[in-house]
Formats: sequence, structure tokens, C-alpha cells
Amino acid sequence: MGIVQTCSKHEIKSKFISSKEEGLYIEVPFIVPAGTEQIKVKMEVVQEGVASSIIDLGVKDQNRVRGWSGGARTEFFIHQAKATPGYLHGELEAGEWAVILGAYKVAAKGCTVNLTIEYTLEELRWLKGDLHTHSVHSDGTFTLREKASICEEVGLDFLGLTDHNAASQNEAYPRDVDTLFIPGMELTTNKGHLNLFGVNDPLQDFRVNTMDELHIVLKEARENGAYISLNHPNCRNTGWRWEWDFDYDWVEVWNGPWREDNQDALDWWQDQLVSGKRLVAVGGSDAHRPHPSVIHGMPTTWVYSKSLTSAEILKSIDQGHVVLSYSPKGPFLSLTCGISMTGDICEETNKAVMLNVKDVQYTDVVKVISNQGNEQEVMVEEGQDTLDLSWAVANRSFYRVEVWRYFPEVKSRLLAALSNPIYFSN
Ligand SMILES: [Zn+2]
Ligand SMILES: [Zn+2]
Repeated sequence: MGIVQTCSKHEIKSKFISSKEEGLYIEVPFIVPAGTEQIKVKMEVVQEGVASSIIDLGVKDQNRVRGWSGGARTEFFIHQAKATPGYLHGELEAGEWAVILGAYKVAAKGCTVNLTIEYTLEELRWLKGDLHTHSVHSDGTFTLREKASICEEVGLDFLGLTDHNAASQNEAYPRDVDTLFIPGMELTTNKGHLNLFGVNDPLQDFRVNTMDELHIVLKEARENGAYISLNHPNCRNTGWRWEWDFDYDWVEVWNGPWREDNQDALDWWQDQLVSGKRLVAVGGSDAHRPHPSVIHGMPTTWVYSKSLTSAEILKSIDQGHVVLSYSPKGPFLSLTCGISMTGDICEETNKAVMLNVKDVQYTDVVKVISNQGNEQEVMVEEGQDTLDLSWAVANRSFYRVEVWRYFPEVKSRLLAALSNPIYFSN
């Protein structure tokens, strides 16, 4: 969709290695700029003469050797959250690093090593993911690598691992794939489910039989640093049946395919917003196994984040910088007012609210909703694939947007996209 873009730049360094240097580890320094999210290094060995030279590859940061692949690889990447096997992911501290060239075997005429070093800088952009999924670590059938392949195929950047009352998935997920895994657990009780995000091992014991026990368990998760999301509160089978006075951050208003249970959750959320509660809405497929309609990325949660890391994505979700769409292909909504976006409290009441919806289809219905209910409804005309609307801020506590689409497969009009609200303090 051209929305996920990061700023990257690269430099090329050449180093001649003579036969006298055989056996040595040669350092080629480079500077990692502040705010780097990922570095990628590619090595090309240009042979001089007929005999071949063998050059090993590795890297050091300011303090330590950060990775080594010997003669096994000619390129590697290190990202804040993932890396090529043999290399350590983590913070990319700004300053002088060095590529390490191991001159294992050097021909009599020497060789020239060309290094391409690519830096990707942190930058706010929309990332797409699915926050609620299961694997073989609970009652799902997908391995974590299978899940990463599915994400790459459908175009998801991140995936929440929310196995039922399990934490082993958070110790087992691969860090050498494109997909970013967000550690999680679905706290699954007999009277309702909550997703705990952002820590590998949020709880010592999931068993909850009373409200008091629920409070104790959530306090432990909170002290461990977890964000807490109320899952499918209006699900006929596994909806929330505990009391409502408990500690949570977000609500999953969209669980899997759109259906009545989700509509009830959406209506409940609207009531919460009208009552003045600023509650972030999220979505998740709840995919467990191959299924015709419960599919990774349906719905997709879009998050405006400065890096593809759990910490930044979860922080941005907590700020409400989130929109939802029925699939990774959109439609995608952008709702702003002056410098404020969804989730923000806008102080610029003299500005207009601007709505842009991409990848809409003929007969889609775009609804603008406030604390006073439906404000306007616009049907997309033939030949239109984007829709722009703007309106003056009236005396409202929030505006939010829904896109509804007719799906001939199920002969119904279903939710296709949903924004979080942009709030006003008047
Ligand atoms: Zn559940
Ligand atoms: Zn679930």
C-alpha cells in the first residue's frame, strides 16, 4: 500500500587485504547514527588473480563482538528486535562499530573486500499486525515459524502470541524472520479472557476463581510490565462474566469475522466513550488453525509506531494511535485534526477534522460517529477508491469513523474498517 516505509541510507566501504595479513582479524570501522532501527551489511570479495581468498565476516559494537558468521555468510542484519542467526539483536547504540573481516586465507595477490552497510532509521509509520493468535503452545496447530511465513505472505509486520495461560511461546519464537512477534498470554479464566502483552512471563499462576484472585493476578501482570486487553467481552461462549471493576487498558471490539458478538462489543465501547471513558479499541483474529474465515490478519490492527519493536508498538497502541481494517489490504483510515490523530486529545478546536479513507469500494458506507451518535453517512460512488471528508469541530467529546462494506460471499454488510476516536476536551 506504500504506507509502510522506512528511511534507510547506505554507504560502501572498500578494503584491500594483502597476503601478509592472512590470519589476522581486520576491522573496518563505521558509524551507527543515533536512532538506528536496523543495520544490514553485505560483503563482496573481489579476487585478484586466479587463486581464491577466503574472508570470514562478523561485527563488533562499541563494547563487544556482536556477531560472527565465519565463512558461512556474506551478509547479515541486526535489528533492535531480531537478527541473522549468529548475531545478537538489541539496541543499536550510536557510535563507532566495526565490521570484522577474518583473513582466513589470502591469495598471493591479495583481494579487495567491498562492504555495503545499510542503516534503517527509526521513523513513525503505520505497521500492520494481528494482536490475538494461538499456536502449538496452547490449542492451536500452527508452529511459530509457520505463523511467520503466513504473516510474510499476507503482509503483516507483527503478530501477538497469545496462547491460553502459556508463556513458552515467548521463549521459543524465532528472531531471524521478517515478522516481529509480540510476547503475550491470553489469561483464560472460566468467566472471561484477557490478553496480557509485552512481557515473556507475566504470571506465576493463572488460576482465578474469585474477583479478589483476579485483582491479585492482574496486579502481578501489571507489576511485570504487561498491558492488559479485555478480549471479546460480548462473546456468547467466552464473554466477560466477572464484575467490571478491574484493571485493564484496551478492549478487543473486533474478534475474528464480523458478527453479532462483535457488534455488541462495538455498541458497549460506544457507550463507554459516551460516558467519557477514553478506551482504546483493538482487534485480533484469534486464529488457532487453518480455517475458512478465522484467518491471521482478519481483522488487522494498524499502529503508528516509530520502530518495529514490541515496546514501541504497545506504547503507540496505548496512545490510541490505532485503526482497524477487516484485512491487511485495508481499507485504511486516517483521521486527524491539526497535529492530532486518532487517540489524541485535540486542543485545536478551530481546525477542521480531516478524514481520508484509502482502498474503498463502490457502495461502501463511511460513517462519522460522535458522542451524539451518527453525524454523517456517505456512500462511496462508482470509480472512487479514496474518500476525503472534513468538517468543523462542533461541541463534541470525540469523533470516530466506521466503514461498512457489502460482502457478496456472505450476502451481508459488515464492518470493513474502524478508527479509534480523536478526542476533544470541550
Ligand atoms: Zn479468548
Ligand atoms: Zn484467543
